[in-house]
Amino acid sequence: PYGQRFKSRLLTSDPVTGTPSKGFDEKAYLSAKQLKPGEDPYRQHAFNQLESDKLSPDRPIRDTRHYSCPSMSYSLDLPATSVIITFHNEARSTLLRTVKSVLNRTPASLIQEIILVDDFSSDRECPPSPLGDPRAFLGLIRSRVRGADVAAAAILTFLDSHCEVNTEWLQPMLQRVKEDHTRVVSPIIDVISLDNFAYLAASADLRGGFDWSLHFKWEQIPLEQKITRTDPTRPIRTPVIAGGIFVIDKAWFNHLGKYDAQMDIWGGENFELSFRVWMCGGSLEIVPCSRVGHVFRKRHPYNFPEGNALTYIRNTKRTAEVWMDEYKQYYYEARPSAIGKAFGSVATRIEQRKKMNCKSFRWYLENVYPELTVPVKEVLPGIIKQGVNCLESQGQNTAGDFLLGMGICRGSAKSPPPAQAWLFTDHLIQQQGKCLAATSTLMSSPGSPVTLQVCNPREGKQKWRRKGTSIQHSVSGLCLENKPGQLATSKCQADAQAQQWQLLPHT
Ligand code: UDP
Ligand code: MN
Repeated sequence: PYGQRFKSRLLTSDPVTGTPSKGFDEKAYLSAKQLKPGEDPYRQHAFNQLESDKLSPDRPIRDTRHYSCPSMSYSLDLPATSVIITFHNEARSTLLRTVKSVLNRTPASLIQEIILVDDFSSDRECPPSPLGDPRAFLGLIRSRVRGADVAAAAILTFLDSHCEVNTEWLQPMLQRVKEDHTRVVSPIIDVISLDNFAYLAASADLRGGFDWSLHFKWEQIPLEQKITRTDPTRPIRTPVIAGGIFVIDKAWFNHLGKYDAQMDIWGGENFELSFRVWMCGGSLEIVPCSRVGHVFRKRHPYNFPEGNALTYIRNTKRTAEVWMDEYKQYYYEARPSAIGKAFGSVATRIEQRKKMNCKSFRWYLENVYPELTVPVKEVLPGIIKQGVNCLESQGQNTAGDFLLGMGICRGSAKSPPPAQAWLFTDHLIQQQGKCLAATSTLMSSPGSPVTLQVCNPREGKQKWRRKGTSIQHSVSGLCLENKPGQLATSKCQADAQAQQWQLLPHT
């Protein structure tokens, strides 16, 4: 922890020479932290620890890859990687199985080192540190940066502390990063059951997505892409990564600004990193021939000093403020509890974004995630007033014409009666599918009666625009006038009372 390398005290070593004799004593390590009889096996880790403890640290798992993956070939000089695993109060059986799965299923030449960052676990085994004893936990974001900072290899591979990597998991990911160092790649994340630890294949047609509240979700890859995907081994572009399992070039990670170190504990960092990678010239992909199992949990078995919800808000708010430009309004609409919440300063992150000349969030939406659409607000109708009177529809006459006239206003703009409720959108003034229209065949000449017609956005008779306090018929340039007994178009006169209208929108 804290950047120091040390040998575990659990290494059984020769008491005289000090050299390790039998290697790591797995049994001693595992038996030191077993469940007490009768203890709830879910309490400490939010998964069934009893089931995990029963399994061998070397257990075999099913090769869940597509059948065309095993015949793939990879470069013979793939770069080696530092595997970084941060953990806080992880169960020993799952942590050991994570490490052993890496050792058992990765060619030794590809692993430079495995770095375990113990993030202030209650049972941590820290040797006295020259930096002083850690006083509090860093959270997974700062812990990962600690691990990355001491990593010796040119490529970083992050893993959670309750994973099992599958056959040939690393090669296809290293291959992609070797070909292009700006690619940030992740495996398909298989599911290790939190109840019985069965290893289950995840769908190969999923990618990472989210909604405006910055809530992560797995989603089907878009249909067009699915149809054109003839090669199941080909990487899948993904708008965001799920979280803590990915491979990245170390120099690229540093260049991009690592992680936002002011984010706490857990959450939101995957969006921040994902937006940054895409917008600053890189790409994110899921490599389907790489499979890593992960125990997905339903709750966090650790404490958030500020509370779970506030921490998530802080982290996602920082993300929105730095990366989402004018689109951050949709984040706040979807997560109103974030409005007014403290989130620290983002000045240096914004500065970094400028320095790297990153693209806009609009670019990201158009090019990376067009499926995330901007929410359309339902426009509610308001009123059109002249003095104490309001424009109103007055039913139909015996000939079936829709009648338009003026009547005393019978409600405010917020709650108009249906007959006085009007929507002025684009160039139409409408009520329940009927639109104001200059109905004369000679609509260009003054004096055309203005009545209601079934709306047709292409009909010139129905096109209006606002001009100061008057309402102008777009084609003729004449103004809507309240003439005794009828509404009509008339030559525009700035001082004509009968041409003055107050358009009061709903809000
Ligand atoms: N973790 C950490 N410090 C923390 C919280 C989590 O090092 O303060 C580790 C945790 O042990 C795990 C990884 O970060 O290895 C991701 O956390 P978790 O598995 O709880 O998140 P999830 O997979 O549910 O998103
Ligand atoms: Mn996890």
